[in-house]
Amino acid sequence: MRIVLLGPPGAGKGTQAQRLAERLNLAHISTGDILRQNVKDQTSLGKEAKDFMEQGLLVPDSLMARMLLDRLAQPDIKRGFILDGYPRNLAQAETLELLLKEKGIGIDEVIYLDSSDSVIIQRLSGRLACSNCGANFHIKNMPPKAAGICDKCAGKLYQRTDDKEETVMKRLQVYKQEAVDLIKYYQEKKKLSRLDADIDPDVVLNEIIALTKKHDSFKV
Ligand code: ADP
Ligand code: ZN
Repeated sequence: MRIVLLGPPGAGKGTQAQRLAERLNLAHISTGDILRQNVKDQTSLGKEAKDFMEQGLLVPDSLMARMLLDRLAQPDIKRGFILDGYPRNLAQAETLELLLKEKGIGIDEVIYLDSSDSVIIQRLSGRLACSNCGANFHIKNMPPKAAGICDKCAGKLYQRTDDKEETVMKRLQVYKQEAVDLIKYYQEKKKLSRLDADIDPDVVLNEIIALTKKHDSFKV
């Protein structure tokens, strides 16, 4: 099964994708995580992407396409995947379709996690990310068992530089500019399901799982 998660920053794409990947044994492809790893490792991709990310802007489509091509060449995607953070605009959606078509596959389900601005800002301002495995926590809503330490891998937790208030506002603005067209694109393909993502993440996860059930006949 191949799933795309859409939605604003802070809607819970990363959190849900991670849980869903574990539950359904799918690969989790987070373009944000891959970019952050590249920045950390100071690769040429990381160097090119860093400034855009820090300003809350989209990394250029051509760079993203190269990155996606590499990721889709890895063997773990054969069992199916969840795409989290890609596509972010119409051009990226078209690139994705093309790359998958070349492999003779397509997307089964696009899930749009819809969240209100006030919830987004509250979630991002308290978010903590693991510097090692990328897992997300929240100071109040989802605190780690031990302060500053990842429950999963004991890595150090940090606040992402792009979670500063002014960058959050910029990311939201960029998202809103691109989202309408993207949502329309998948609506027209009759692939889009919208879920309210302001509610309890456990409830959202169950709703996503319910949506994936209609694809039980697909081989994973
Ligand atoms: P969020 O969805 O919470 O904004 P991500 O971790 O998905 O966070 O992305 C962080 C940053 O990485 C984005 O603000 C952007 O600069 C860059 N990025 C991630 N995915 C893409 C993409 N598909 N296209 C362009 N830039 C991207
Ligand atoms: Zn971790």
